[in-house]
Amino acid sequence: MAASSLSCPHCGQLDSVRKVSAIVSSGTSSGSYTGYGDGIGYSSSGMMIMDELITLTGSSQTQLSSLLSPPREPPDRTFESKLARPGSICLMLLGAFGMLAFFISLANLTSESGAGDTMVFSLLSLGIPALVFTIYWYNSKIENPLAASERSKWQRAISKWQHLYYCYRCDGVYLPSLNYIVPTQYMMTFLYYE
Ligand SMILES: [Zn+2]
Repeated sequence: MAASSLSCPHCGQLDSVRKVSAIVSSGTSSGSYTGYGDGIGYSSSGMMIMDELITLTGSSQTQLSSLLSPPREPPDRTFESKLARPGSICLMLLGAFGMLAFFISLANLTSESGAGDTMVFSLLSLGIPALVFTIYWYNSKIENPLAASERSKWQRAISKWQHLYYCYRCDGVYLPSLNYIVPTQYMMTFLYYE
């Protein structure tokens, strides 16, 4: 029988089984459910309370659908966070001043014909933004593999979650392809580490 392959590996029945994604979407009021934002977020490093907690505690999300919520997408912090660092702001200012100096010297170059010193200065000032850009490019090269691995971990977790089933009788989740059940509170551990 084709349906029996979906039955709970613990009690062997199919009557109390529902797909996890269906429980989550039906357990949340349509007005307040925004993507994966449900108050509590998960990352590969563990559980964390998100900003959305305040706006969504009043929603009609049931406790079960909250427990079964999908893993939260890791934020893309490859470039934005770099801009926020104090050192980066200094570099940005340096780059901006360099550009400014370049344009000023360029204006001087056209007015005073044949000024060799101005020519050198304008090339030097153009070198500063070029240096700043190179540093940014180099930094993004370093940090990208880390962000990429976190993202691929999440993608693996979310694709497992999409195939997850829940048994109301046993209060656990399982993948039909595996022959064991995982208690609901260990769902995230199961998704990320098994
Ligand atoms: Zn069961």
